Parts: sequence; C-alpha cells; structure tokens
Amino acid sequence: MLEGKTGIVFGIANKRSIAWAIARTLAQHGARLAVTHQNERLEEKVRELAGQLAEPLILPCDASEDDQIDAVFKAVEEAFGGLDFLIHSIAFAAREDLEGDFTDTSRAGYHLAQDISAYSLIALARRAAPLMAGRDGSVVTLSYLGGERVVPHYNVMGVAKAALEANVRYLAHSLGPRGIRVNAISAGPIKTLAASGISGLSKMLKSVAAVAPLRRNTQQAEVADTALFLCSHLSRGITGEVIYVDAGYHIMGMFQPPEEA
Ligand code: NAD
Repeated sequence: MLEGKTGIVFGIANKRSIAWAIARTLAQHGARLAVTHQNERLEEKVRELAGQLAEPLILPCDASEDDQIDAVFKAVEEAFGGLDFLIHSIAFAAREDLEGDFTDTSRAGYHLAQDISAYSLIALARRAAPLMAGRDGSVVTLSYLGGERVVPHYNVMGVAKAALEANVRYLAHSLGPRGIRVNAISAGPIKTLAASGISGLSKMLKSVAAVAPLRRNTQQAEVADTALFLCSHLSRGITGEVIYVDAGYHIMGMFQPPEEA
C-alpha cells in the first residue's frame, strides 16, 4: 500500500511504543522511513529496533528544540527528496501533574505539557509541508479520550490532548489546499512507557476491558493498522478527523457493573 512512499515517525522509545508498531506496519507495506529518538538515552534502543527496517534514516529530535527539528527535516529532504507522511506520537507531562488534584497544576507544568504534546504537532507539520508538496501528504497524531472527557489522573495531559485535537482541525484547514491531510487516532489505554506515568493505569485497563463493546483493551497493532489506512490512498477523503481505536469504549454513556451488563 505504501510502495515507493517515504515517511517519518516521531515517538519511538521502545518495542511497546505505539510509534514502533506504526513504523513496523508502514515499513511492511513498502514505506521507507526516517525515525527519531528523543535523546542519547533512547538512541540505542531506537537503533536496535530500526535495524529491522529497510535503509532507515535515524535522527535525534527533542521536540522542544527548534534547531533539532530543522536539522531533522533538512536530513530528510537530503535523503528522501520529499515526504509522503508524518507520524507524531509524542507526549509528555511532569509526573506530579498526572496525579493529585487538577487545581494544583502549575504554570510550568501546564506549559510543558502543551509544548511537547500539542504545539510540537504544529512545529513538525510546518517543516513537513514543503516536503509534501504535490505528494498528497498525510500527518497523523495520537490522542486520547481524556482530551474530551474527564479521566481521573489524566489532568494536564487531557487539556493538552484537547489542544492537540484542535490543532488537527486548524492544521487540516491550513494544509488542505496543499493536498495535505491531518488526522488523529484516539487510542484506548495501552501499557507503554508514557502510559505508566499515569497513576491508576491498571484500573483504567481493567475498567475499559469490562465495559468496552468489544470487552477488551486496545493493541498497538490495531492502532498501527489505522495509521496505515490514514497514510494510504484509501483515506484520501478524510481530514481534520479524530478516529477512535479503543474497542468502542468512547460510545458508552453508562457503565453498568459487568454482572448486570
Ligand atoms: P511511549 O512512551 O512509547 O511514547 C512516547 C514518546 O514521546 C517517547 O518516544 C518519548 O521519547 C517521546 N517524547 C516525550 N517527550 C519528547 C520530547 N521532548 N521530544 C521528542 N520526543 C518526546 O508511549 P506511547 O503510549 O506509545 O505514546 C505515544 C503517543 O500515543 C502519545 O501521544 C500518547 O499520549 C498517545 N496515546 C497513548 C495511549 C496509551 O494508553 N499508551 C493512548 C492514547 C494515546
């Protein structure tokens, strides 16, 4: 489905990362990929995983550093000559802001979560757009239901996801005339490095599996298949959308105890 296409994937930390599942799936469908690592600590793991991809371009990128972002897109332009898709699978908030009372959210913690988890999509999309000229580009980001509804402990990250989903709509409007689509996948909770920073994750996983229509949790591979769809010609009419890959959890309006369901 992606033979002859090139893409860049931001957000691989380890083999559990949603970004890794996406990278593997896109590569299996013929895409040539650039992947990034946030810092030296994660570089070795990312290089080890990227070894499974064909001719990967591996680059450092801390999403809070504009010069690093510039360097990434310069390297991609030199190596690939253009870009067909971009996966943004990055989020961060201070641990103290993912527990306790939302009212205690600090100004610095709020800014940090917004910068890394929401603004970074704009920063990356702006640099990707010229490389996507004339190529029907696709930008895909990862969101979560906590951006629309209150999920206990998700706190400042919920507000960042709300901003991220608004960014998707504004970017879709801004980049649409250039043929570039921008969409989000709202995934159900999955046990990853980032998710383990949210207190009460095991309870969340249990609760979703009990009440979601499919009565189970979400797998990275399911999210990856939807990302493949959004990067492919099959989704050419879809932009500015949030697509749920959450075993149907978001449709529920009342959570009955399982024995009464
Ligand atoms: P993960 O920890 O594997 O990935 C998070 C990534 O963000 C890491 O690779 C990390 O290096 C990167 N990152 C953090 N700060 C960064 C910075 N300053 N610069 C560059 N990269 C930075 O966890 P994941 O669950 O795969 O998360 C990927 C995305 O999916 C996130 O946006 C997350 O909010 C979203 N998501 C996750 C779940 C879940 O339950 N796991 C559900 C819905 C959405």
